[in-house]
Amino acid sequence: MVEPISPYGPLRLAITMDDLFLWPDMPVAPGYTHLGITQAMTRAMRQHGVAGAYAFSATTPAERQPDLYRVFDHWVESGHHIANHTHHHANLNWVTVPAYVADIERTESLIEPWSRHAPTRYFRYCMDNWGNTAEKHAGVQAWLQRNGFEAAPISVWFYDTEFLAPHWRALATGDTASVARLRRAFVDTAEKQLRVQAAAARAMFGRDPAHIWLIHGTPLAADCLDAILERFQAAGVVFVPLEEAMADPMNHEAVPIVTPRFLNQVQKWAEVRGVPIEDCPPAILHEIDRIAPMTGHSTPEVMGRVFRAIADSVGGDYFPKMY
Ligand SMILES: [Zn+2]
Repeated sequence: MVEPISPYGPLRLAITMDDLFLWPDMPVAPGYTHLGITQAMTRAMRQHGVAGAYAFSATTPAERQPDLYRVFDHWVESGHHIANHTHHHANLNWVTVPAYVADIERTESLIEPWSRHAPTRYFRYCMDNWGNTAEKHAGVQAWLQRNGFEAAPISVWFYDTEFLAPHWRALATGDTASVARLRRAFVDTAEKQLRVQAAAARAMFGRDPAHIWLIHGTPLAADCLDAILERFQAAGVVFVPLEEAMADPMNHEAVPIVTPRFLNQVQKWAEVRGVPIEDCPPAILHEIDRIAPMTGHSTPEVMGRVFRAIADSVGGDYFPKMY
């Protein structure tokens, strides 16, 4: 018998996906394509009764590779929705409000053939960073409101992109034992982070808010989403539409915090209210970056290259994620 996530009963969770194309120059593990990854994820969701999931994807990778849009075709044909996540995936921490807004407008014209089928016009801030100054925060929020967008935060995440570099290294070197270990760690981390972040929300609000969960379009997600959704269901999770989760005040209300830190909605509320979240970010992130070591390919090196290049391409001032 699996211990339920919550003693209060079923936990409502909206599944969302980010970055089905990942980002320019992000190495994709040998044997994987973005379309194949997405097909594996829609298959897993169908098996677990997840319908109408929103995907938020930066669109720059499709500049060089327009056939990537077949991923969106597949996503929408499978009953899911496409929404805005900017074109370049610059963090609002790095750029001005006009630059950020121009990037939202640019991708909107590109995704329109797919996004127009979505019931709600959601926007997701890159890395859930809503602006590191009060002016930026208010400026983009006001623009979104004027243009009919609603910002959809993430309330639970499990740092899944930190597995990208170790998984790529393990596959590139044919280290099958490490690949297996990473798959187990990926599924375990997804479950544990849901438990600790949901527990923090429950402690703050005295109830279980509906949560918004995030996974990215990565090779490990393709291999493991089925197992993750199975674990979640066994622990009492019920999957709900993003619209239902967004109706919950925890997600609907903007948290009264302006921060450059890499914090999701639950973490922001916890920061404001001084509530600790156990093992979050999880200690295992340091362990996995020691798997299959390779010069120049640690997580900070790989992610630093990818995101510095994005900041440079939009004339922004790059700084790394602050946990
Ligand atoms: Zn993203």
